[in-house]
Amino acid sequence: MPCTLFISDLHLDPQRPEITRLFLDFLGTRGHLAECLYILGDLFEAWVGDDDDSALASAVCAGIRDCTQAGTAVYVMHGNRDFLLGKDFAAACGCTLLTDPSAIDLYGQTTLLMHGDLLCTDDHEYMDFRGMVREPRWQQAFLAKPLAERRQIALQLRETSIERIRGKPESIMDVNRQTVVDTMERHAVQRLIHGHTHRPAVHELTVNGKPAQRLVLGDWYEQGSVLECTPAGCQLQTLG
Ligand code: MN
Repeated sequence: MPCTLFISDLHLDPQRPEITRLFLDFLGTRGHLAECLYILGDLFEAWVGDDDDSALASAVCAGIRDCTQAGTAVYVMHGNRDFLLGKDFAAACGCTLLTDPSAIDLYGQTTLLMHGDLLCTDDHEYMDFRGMVREPRWQQAFLAKPLAERRQIALQLRETSIERIRGKPESIMDVNRQTVVDTMERHAVQRLIHGHTHRPAVHELTVNGKPAQRLVLGDWYEQGSVLECTPAGCQLQTLG
């Protein structure tokens, strides 16, 4: 049966080589057999530019390239950590960068794909930060800096983010339910797939006066998390 896979929030980092291995194994097995693989953001813990020559970036890119050469269409959406993934990365891996949000036809049902951070509208501080770093001018200025300096800035941003998250109530870090409904109604969809919150679940809700589903992907900190969709339906799975 044809199958499409969705993953997000791998947060690949040289400090967690076992997760990189798990991902490369997944790409080489199930990734090769799928029709499409969607990576919905935060593939990398940090991305400071496509000129990054790290061993991790090369290994991951080679894994994705093998997958696309085996016939799988691989799509990558930006997350809040790797929003600087660019055209050179996509060309080197053979994948397609996907706009957030994007609607696809998933075996007959229009499905909206997002990373998920755009739904966390209660976190005003983060939304302001997001607005700044998604400005083309900010990105051009950042990418013009030497690689070593960019890595340093990314490290500092990461530490600031950890500090900020520590001081915030759990509810602020989750999606705003009204934003979810508004977004789904605006795109006229009854199904949404996203990650970012690291709270894997299938939520039933009402959108456009009809039953709808919000499928949330899990992170890859302790194990893998995959959503497998076939014409028969979708299933959230964990990978050990
Ligand atoms: Mn995220």
